[in-house]
Amino acid sequence: MADAPANLFMTIPHPAPTSADMRNAAIADPGFGKVFSDHMVSIDYTDGKGWHNASVGPRVPISLDPAASVLHYAQEIFEGMKAYRQADGSLSLFRPEANAARFNASATRMAMPTLPEDLFVAAVREQVRIDRDWFPTVEGGSLYLRPFMFATEAFLGVRPALEYKFLVIASPAGNYFKSGSPAVSIWISDYSRAAPGGTGAAKTGGNYAASLIPTAEAFSRGHDQVLFLDAVEHKWVEELGGMNLFFVFDDGSMVTPPLTGTILPGITRDSLLQLAREEGLTVREEPYSIDQWRADAASGKLVETMACGTAAVVTAVGHVAGPDGEFTIGSGGPGQLTTRLREKLVGIQRGAIADTHGWVMQVD
Ligand SMILES: *Cc1c(COP(=O)(O)O)cnc(C)c1O
Repeated sequence: MADAPANLFMTIPHPAPTSADMRNAAIADPGFGKVFSDHMVSIDYTDGKGWHNASVGPRVPISLDPAASVLHYAQEIFEGMKAYRQADGSLSLFRPEANAARFNASATRMAMPTLPEDLFVAAVREQVRIDRDWFPTVEGGSLYLRPFMFATEAFLGVRPALEYKFLVIASPAGNYFKSGSPAVSIWISDYSRAAPGGTGAAKTGGNYAASLIPTAEAFSRGHDQVLFLDAVEHKWVEELGGMNLFFVFDDGSMVTPPLTGTILPGITRDSLLQLAREEGLTVREEPYSIDQWRADAASGKLVETMACGTAAVVTAVGHVAGPDGEFTIGSGGPGQLTTRLREKLVGIQRGAIADTHGWVMQVD
């Protein structure tokens, strides 16, 4: 993918950047999603004119007309990706073209304009470059990047909007789960996240809105995450609120639910599928029921379960609870394959293991 011309983004100088002292305090142990860098990338879209007004400048509040259609009909999509520090100190992205492609798949589902993939990647690179000093100093830290797009047109009629804004913001990030739990505990929800024919495969805020009550319920019962079953039979395991799942059996094979439109096609999921198959493991993309999961955990046939996504990388699921009781997976802690695949993926992302797939893109 060709580099975008350097002058593609107009640079708006920051009038009052955060002082080095305050920034250093903020990036020492930022947690997840609470600390934000100084800048943002912004690009506007108008029907008939296309994408224009590309800039990189201060991260400031945005003003919207109260009739902006995102506020009423929720035309909004986003991506979640990270910049990683390589051993030589440079910063890199992991499979950013895959995020660009998924962003456009989400846009199409939500009747929004697509963004040229090289413009998406150039915008993310620009964001990393301008805020490279915000890279966290905590062990295992990364710069979390949030590209997103929403409808800005002031119009209350129901149809796809004619005006949109695309922004990228950055957030220095440490561990996603509090205290970096070695294994998480999940709650099986009675609620559904996505129905056949719905928007489950699009990375859109509405899916998260639907998951908030179930997530709050999981938290209030002392669990780390919520698990959704399919909306039709309430039987097949789909995914967590923001992570895909893999099941590992005692014969070394793995299963992950297939992408049938109600599950978000995770880039971590895809990367693990490739890494596992290259190791010679058998990985089946096929439906797996909650009853089978419980039975396999009890018999010992199921030895590990892993949850994966950009934010939390690869995390063991140790404990599963729901209205029908609870069960523990293996010893309740991370198993061998979870640990090995996590180390392999993190190693590739941070340059400690050779990137034989062309997944790592240097930023500077
Ligand atoms: C983003 C997301 C994932 C994980 O996708 P990655 O590309 O691996 O980060 C999984 N499920 C949902 C619902 C998501 O929004």
